[in-house]
Amino acid sequence: MSQFDGMMNRFDGVLTRLTHHLENIDQIMENSGTEEGRKELLNNQLVLVVDFVYQLKQMLGKEDTSRVIPQWLRIENRLRRLRRLVELQSPTVIIQNENQWLKKMVREMEQLGNGFEPDLYTEEEQEELAMERDFFDEEEFALDRIKGAILGHAIGDAMGATTEFMEPNEICRKYGTVTDILGGGWLHLKPGETTDDTAMSLCVAEGILESPDNPIDAIGQAFLRWEATDPEDIGNTIRSSLDHFNGDWLEAAYQTHLEFDGYTGGNGSLMRCLPVALAYTDSDKMEDITERQSKMTHYDDIASEACLIYNRIAARVLNGDNLLLALVAETDGTRYHNVFLDRPSCSPDGFVVNTFTWVLYLLWTYDSFAEVVQQATNEGYDSDTVAAIAGGLKGLSTQSFGLPQEWVNKLRNRKQLEKAAEDLYQLRQSMLGMTSQPAGTND
Ligand SMILES: [Mg+2]
Repeated sequence: MSQFDGMMNRFDGVLTRLTHHLENIDQIMENSGTEEGRKELLNNQLVLVVDFVYQLKQMLGKEDTSRVIPQWLRIENRLRRLRRLVELQSPTVIIQNENQWLKKMVREMEQLGNGFEPDLYTEEEQEELAMERDFFDEEEFALDRIKGAILGHAIGDAMGATTEFMEPNEICRKYGTVTDILGGGWLHLKPGETTDDTAMSLCVAEGILESPDNPIDAIGQAFLRWEATDPEDIGNTIRSSLDHFNGDWLEAAYQTHLEFDGYTGGNGSLMRCLPVALAYTDSDKMEDITERQSKMTHYDDIASEACLIYNRIAARVLNGDNLLLALVAETDGTRYHNVFLDRPSCSPDGFVVNTFTWVLYLLWTYDSFAEVVQQATNEGYDSDTVAAIAGGLKGLSTQSFGLPQEWVNKLRNRKQLEKAAEDLYQLRQSMLGMTSQPAGTND
């Protein structure tokens, strides 16, 4: 028996139970009852289905994943669609039809052991995906995604701060494994307090909201107001650039670059860049602001490069793409191509390439939001920043209702974060309103 066959045998049990829950969905749809009662039953089943799908992916490990991942991604996509249909209380026939598709995917997965070789997407499915784009207005989900991103980022920051600058063996001795938001750390935080990563992201959001067309000066003013509160955890590169500022942010970053002998490739601009992807619907504008906000403090192209890739992934997910597909697509042909397949050999420290490599690895490897931020936390080094950056993208993809509620409740600045998310959403909507005007009517 080949390794692959062995894995498929272990799959069988999970696939059988998965099919059972999909059958239950059909039964629920056939039985009458109130819409609300049915929705609750369906949601319960879907939670179980999601759980089994995640179990499948975990069983894949590193064994011949190239054969199974296309099918797994298909299942995940169909599942996402089914969940939405339930959420929207769509007519029975549409939900049943979607469930048929999902069952078909599961049956195909069962055939993988018999030499069935799936393409990533067949032509028929590509058409289906294109129709899905038309069928669902992705913007309906934008507010939940934006909230998920902002809160997910802050949760990562709050949890990871406990172990910042520690090494994994120290963390193990002191805490065992950190699985919750504990506070403490070198900043002596109260549980649920956040650090510079969240503070500076809020500054970026504030600047964009104040002056969406050209937000750099407004972002800079917000940075300076934050510096004036004398934060203990301001990074060296950022402090230097803020202190060098004399009316020109790029010049300030360049002075820092000279002073630091060209070493300005820290992760300080990556940790705060997500609000740019959340606000701007126009991709050229989004990329321009992403790059310029990085170069306000970090002159090195290596920092802005990571920000660009990160925000391009975010923009895709915000438009409804699968997180893993977006990650593969946007790292293709870059220095981050396939770096996430194996555990990184570098430490998750403050060098932007190391930080981003770890972020990609965690997102690729762990399925749930909780695992992503917990794993980042227990790896130590720049754990708050790695957990925040990874948690932001993961939260964007799970949407706010996919975040563990007890952690959302623990965030001390939750109200402020939710307000920022709502304001960014409103701004996004107003930009869509402008771009959806027929050409030639707005001159
Ligand atoms: Mg921090």
